[in-house]
Amino acid sequence: MGGTFDPIHHGHLVAASEVQAWFDLDEVLFVPTGDPWQKADREVTTAEHRYLMTVIATAANPRFNVSRVDIDRQGRTYTIDTLRDLRHEMPDADLYFITGADALAEIFTWRDADDLFELAQFVGCTRPGYTMDDATLASIPSDRVTIVEIPALAISSTDCRRRKERGEPVWYLVPDGVVQYIAKHDLYPGPHTVAEPPL
Ligand code: ATP
Ligand code: MG
Repeated sequence: MGGTFDPIHHGHLVAASEVQAWFDLDEVLFVPTGDPWQKADREVTTAEHRYLMTVIATAANPRFNVSRVDIDRQGRTYTIDTLRDLRHEMPDADLYFITGADALAEIFTWRDADDLFELAQFVGCTRPGYTMDDATLASIPSDRVTIVEIPALAISSTDCRRRKERGEPVWYLVPDGVVQYIAKHDLYPGPHTVAEPPL
């Protein structure tokens, strides 16, 4: 499951859990992006912080693990590189690339889009308020892409960051350990930031 995870939240975790169960996957590997070029419009938190929050959030689930392939690779993250690296690490695995339907819609802006479908099945998670347009749906090879509906969870990392910047709580939107990690490292500070009260 690729993502910026800035920060990881329960929407990601529910999506991963649903897709794991749906396809009976042995493992879900969370892959935080390196320098995410799709988000060139804003400053993204250091990869190491995003990686550690992802580790904390997934630690309790024996089927969830975190990969450093994207953050250890120099330069921008392209999904084709992610999949090639994972294929190299796990030559016998059937790979499913899980992402949001919004990201999937941009698949043809990705580098080497045709090769992507050779390397993995794609799973697009639909989130509340998102409908995929017919042109996009028609343009993706249906035997390589599955759309999975995730129970309504209108959580986004953007909303979590804004809440922190406004001094509002993010308890229960992100795992407890991630709330504490954000507070400890003062991520997403804003003019109204107040310390999270202890649970
Ligand atoms: P941002 O608001 O910064 O874009 P995000 O919440 O979309 O962050 P990403 O790290 O971009 O988080 O997420 C990785 C993938 O997970 C994306 O493709 C996104 O569509 C999907 N995703 C994010 N939130 C949810 C959710 N609540 N339910 C299902 N999928 C989600
Ligand atoms: Mg997003």
